[in-house]
Amino acid sequence: MFILVVNAGSSSLKYQLFDMDREEMIAKGLCERIGIDGKLTHTTVGKEKVKKDIPMPTHTEAVKVAVECLTDKEFGCISDMSQISAVGHRIVSGGPWLINSVQIDGPDGKVLEDLHKCFDLAPLHTKAHLQGIEGCMSIMPGVPQVLVMDTAFHQTMPAQAYTYPIDYETAQKYAIRRYGAHGTSHRYVSGKAIEYLGNKNAKIVTCHLGNGSSISAVDGGKCVDTSMGLTPLEGVIMGSRCGSIDPAIVPFVMERENIPADKMGDWMNKKCGFLGLSGVSSDLRDVREAAANGNERAKLALDILAYQIKKYIGAYAAAMNGLDCVVFTAGIGENDDEMRAAAMKDMEFYGIKLDAEKNKQRGCFEIHADDSRVKILVIPTNEELVIASDTLAIVTGKEI
Ligand code: AMP
Repeated sequence: MFILVVNAGSSSLKYQLFDMDREEMIAKGLCERIGIDGKLTHTTVGKEKVKKDIPMPTHTEAVKVAVECLTDKEFGCISDMSQISAVGHRIVSGGPWLINSVQIDGPDGKVLEDLHKCFDLAPLHTKAHLQGIEGCMSIMPGVPQVLVMDTAFHQTMPAQAYTYPIDYETAQKYAIRRYGAHGTSHRYVSGKAIEYLGNKNAKIVTCHLGNGSSISAVDGGKCVDTSMGLTPLEGVIMGSRCGSIDPAIVPFVMERENIPADKMGDWMNKKCGFLGLSGVSSDLRDVREAAANGNERAKLALDILAYQIKKYIGAYAAAMNGLDCVVFTAGIGENDDEMRAAAMKDMEFYGIKLDAEKNKQRGCFEIHADDSRVKILVIPTNEELVIASDTLAIVTGKEI
């Protein structure tokens, strides 16, 4: 059975085709610059990468291009579009309305109505998701479309973790609470860690460190807290996002710099974090290079992330009354051994001891010292596989 996974952004659409009989990705692609000039990159596993300039005025044309690539005689992998049994869509925020993975019941059905309600919580993402869904429905009519929410895994948090101590009525009126993000990734890597530990009651801290970063506390397979909040702005320092700051900084800067509310959102999301602090780049590799060349601001940005990871691990160990495992994943977590080493330094108090040599080895899964009570794992994330698995389960009527 073939399942297509779609991740629609404002001007891009990523796709992966899974053969679910083998649980393997067999082709993937990226449609970029949708609505501008259109660029496509497609790779079928075992075949050469294809790059093309193709006009894609809307997401619908992007889906058409993706399907044409997948069915292309030369560089595709399936003979006909009808072989695609279902489409799974990555949804950044389901708010309080869309909690579990769900099949869209029709263009005017309640699921899409609920997705529209998420606009205020993630305006750019939700708009793009709706365009991606619309594109798939028009190019593949009759093919079941399933939504998999990045917020879903965090729905098990207790009220004390997800409630903000703000005026209650305002919070209720606008559904303001912690929803978290990267839930599909936290779910995947914590599931892998549980398998490795052979303990379904394990207490795990999962560190998804990428361009956007979030850290979760997972107790017995359930998320009990997470660093991202109402939006993916809260938590640790990120590529260009500030993470958690004193809320009073916001009106302080707005008044003095004469910045309106919408532009202030841009400031916090696009001009802070590694980029704003170092003045170099939002990409950790550039920041690290600058730090190695003596840039003190770049070094400080890196030190802040390592320090904040430590603090979250400490806080979450306290929240769970124990810790069995720390997991690193995503671009930085999987690749940057220096960040892992800095975050794991001087953590013996918690029973955390890194094996410096294993940590440096690329692709090493277990990086803890033999006498470390807490296991430290590097687990490449695979959000698309989770989306494909949920989609398969829903369309075949199995329990997730
Ligand atoms: P992601 O959002 O998961 O794609 O992660 C992007 C972040 O991972 C960027 O800050 C990259 O600099 C970082 N990253 C990706 N590959 C590497 C690498 N080989 N070494 C260090 N950092 C990396």
